[in-house]
Amino acid sequence: MIHQLAEAAGEQIQATLDLLSAMVEIESPSDNKAAVDRCVAFVADKSSATGGRARVHRQKEFGDLLEARFGPQKSRRKPVLLLGHLDTVWPLGTLKNMPFRISTGRVWGPGVLDMKAGVAMALVAISILQEQKKLTRPVILLLNSDEEVGSNVSRPVTERLAQQCDAVFVLEPAQGLKGAYKTARKGVGNYSVRVQGVASHSGVDFERGHSAIVELARQIERITQFTELDRGITVNVGTVQGGTRSNVVAAEAQAEVDIRIAKAKDEARIGKHFRSLRVFDNKCSLHVEGGLNRPPMERTRGTVALFKRAAAYARELGFTLEEAATGGGSDGNFTSAIGVPTLDGMGAVGEGAHAAHESLLLEHMAPRTALLAAMLADAGE
Ligand SMILES: [Zn+2]
Repeated sequence: MIHQLAEAAGEQIQATLDLLSAMVEIESPSDNKAAVDRCVAFVADKSSATGGRARVHRQKEFGDLLEARFGPQKSRRKPVLLLGHLDTVWPLGTLKNMPFRISTGRVWGPGVLDMKAGVAMALVAISILQEQKKLTRPVILLLNSDEEVGSNVSRPVTERLAQQCDAVFVLEPAQGLKGAYKTARKGVGNYSVRVQGVASHSGVDFERGHSAIVELARQIERITQFTELDRGITVNVGTVQGGTRSNVVAAEAQAEVDIRIAKAKDEARIGKHFRSLRVFDNKCSLHVEGGLNRPPMERTRGTVALFKRAAAYARELGFTLEEAATGGGSDGNFTSAIGVPTLDGMGAVGEGAHAAHESLLLEHMAPRTALLAAMLADAGE
């Protein structure tokens, strides 16, 4: 079966690239609803043309979400969820300096790897399965529009649909140039630490001042110690702000902190650490808020079983599929955390997501499309 899929994916490579270039050329930064909606409308049309029953979930602030159902409407088998996003980190106009192009065996352009290629590959995989009469189970494609800004709006929809499914395949790029599938992701959170001090003239009234900057610096020393590399916990003070001028003892200072945890149970541990922070200078006050945004995607048995099946198909296709864990989050974190086996990184192979050299390796596109199709044909059996 898999060789027929591989052959068809090879024949469809130009169609895959045409679809990808059309999607990349409709720029879709997360913070521009009208732009993302144009891309969503385009993919909704393509989904319908591929035999899908498309439904758009309207959103006020961010782009609309696209849900498209393929395969039999009635089945004794639960659907598979294909999960992706159409928003990118690239502002409108990026195409001028970073146009869609194919050169040196790579495809380049804003959002090409993260993750419009994954969406194009999914639609081609579905159309191949339909042509070969192998789409025997329901498949739901869900494309979110706020993934790059935390998925706050789409999260309930993602979780609701995932609950109806017995597996989730995430169309994010594979890990590294070897293209490993991701079976674990860290959970991601943010804390903001604000200090209110007492301002004074640094020359006339120095002793009356209580520097928010000095207090924050001491807090940062403490916060930095929350990192426990052996447990997979990292705490990064990513930005600091404070003060007004060099001759004023600073009244205000603030830090933004990114946290990553590998295990769900460490959410409480890190929360306790942040709650335990106390001022060194009691004329200063401290305000700490934050928490986990995405729970970790742990390497569950269900996910490992999906990976093993994918690795076996990859061997039949003539390549070795590796498995990886990453510190970065995706919408797969949500689906895995509610207990649905989730395999991530099933999109394109490349490098430079969110960077000017964002690109994918063309040679992997057809084999990965065939692998995705094979997994859709049998997942959950
Ligand atoms: Zn992404």
